Amino acid sequence: MSATLITLQPRPHDLDPSVDHGIQAIVAGASTAETCNTDLAAGPWDFDARPGYGPGSSMGDVIPTGAPRQGELPAEYRTASEHDLHARIRAAKATLGERVVVLGHFYQREEVVTHADYVGDSFQLANAALEHPDADAIVFCGVHFMAETADLLSRPEQAVILPNLAAGCSMADMASIDEVEECWEQLADVYGDLDAVDADGRVPVIPVTYMNSSAAIKGFVGRHGGIVCTSSNARTVLEWAFARGRRVLFFPDQHLGRNTAKAMGVPLTQMPMWNPRKPLGGSTPAELEESRVILWHGFCSVHRRFSVDQSDKARAEHPGVRVIVHPECPMAVVDAADEAGSTDYIRKAIAAATEPTTFAIGTEINLVQRLAAQYPQHEIFCLDPVVCPCSTMYRIHPGYLAWVLERLVAGEVVNRITVPADVADPARVALERMLAAKP
Ligand code: SF4
Repeated sequence: MSATLITLQPRPHDLDPSVDHGIQAIVAGASTAETCNTDLAAGPWDFDARPGYGPGSSMGDVIPTGAPRQGELPAEYRTASEHDLHARIRAAKATLGERVVVLGHFYQREEVVTHADYVGDSFQLANAALEHPDADAIVFCGVHFMAETADLLSRPEQAVILPNLAAGCSMADMASIDEVEECWEQLADVYGDLDAVDADGRVPVIPVTYMNSSAAIKGFVGRHGGIVCTSSNARTVLEWAFARGRRVLFFPDQHLGRNTAKAMGVPLTQMPMWNPRKPLGGSTPAELEESRVILWHGFCSVHRRFSVDQSDKARAEHPGVRVIVHPECPMAVVDAADEAGSTDYIRKAIAAATEPTTFAIGTEINLVQRLAAQYPQHEIFCLDPVVCPCSTMYRIHPGYLAWVLERLVAGEVVNRITVPADVADPARVALERMLAAKP
């Protein structure tokens, strides 16, 4: 598999891209900015023992029973200063050398990203691991499904480590394997044999899952002739699927599915929602027969915060502003923006701007503030004025990174993420289809 690697860019020192520093200033009364939850200023260990996605998450997000919990972080890491944690991380990395690779997601907090060997989106980072077949350990500073994907793509001997097991993804959790299996059975009641091809050689429905899903869901898709997509290639993948199926079952993110299919000309009336808590997902058999894309009732709590009002306000206050949003945002927000694209698209759009430009960006704030610091010639701000990072990504505090690295120095692997072979094999098939997909 090919890899697109993004190495760290040197950052100017007069701009502080740290969201955490901003939240600490808000809580201390030194900033007039607003945060969605002042508990974000606490160490994640204060709430790791409690089930949930942590402060800043949407009230509507319900964590699944049995979601991984993080054990107590030793006190020496909880009480260490930021300065000491940075020194310990640097020392552990120096000792481990080539034996470890640290990966940091675009949405990860700055205090962790500063120690990453690579920064990128989930798939870029999983591929970055491939560039280091000799590394014993891959420390993935992202969320659970990302570490699973890295495990799928790395050598079996390599240990993929998630520094805080509580770093899940509420969107990925919105499509459980049991719910998806149940949905598939119900669709078979409507469409008949799901493997039967029509005169055009197409089956009734092709399952497509967003990269932001569990390995179990990727495995399901692989077993049923389906495919994985990213926010960068969703259109290509849907074209691949429409060539092989009369319709698509798209999960977990309804917004990426709707925004992509709408841009391809699929009418909204042919995109029913599948709510796993309702019989037939809440649609009639006739609606399902007419459908082209069945959208799973999932969403990202971070991207759902963006609104058309925010976009209007940005335009009123910053004439000439370029509004760019992520396709996980609701359709109305995407329609009101100048452009929509993946994190990689957003990053490249800013990098390509030759004239000083004002950008209002609709994606996670850690990436937005990092871009603002990297490109001081532009004015770059988050479309949402409230400081509200991805609450699960935020669970990876430097204390956890120091802990897992120092355990590696001591010869112990903690927080390893392993995908069982019966899931991994079909999941890899679904990923390989994505890489081979041609419209
Ligand atoms: S930003 Fe949204 S989709 Fe991404 S990890 Fe956070 S909750 Fe999941």
